[in-house]
Amino acid sequence: MVRHIIRKCTRCGRYTLKERCPICGSETIDPHPPRFSPEDRYVSYRVKAVYKEKVESRGSESSTTN
Ligand SMILES: [Zn+2]
Repeated sequence: MVRHIIRKCTRCGRYTLKERCPICGSETIDPHPPRFSPEDRYVSYRVKAVYKEKVESRGSESSTTN
């Protein structure tokens, strides 16, 4: 599987597919790391919200049986 991941030079800001900048030889970084994507953050937020909802509904259930 070939993945074309755009990377960005930390020194000159040039976009490249290499791990080293072909222009200045500096290290390049992934400008969009998956773990920092807002979409991922939104998903984890939704998971937490659903979990909280379940806990709250379970809590109200036990209180009504008491
Ligand atoms: Zn560079």
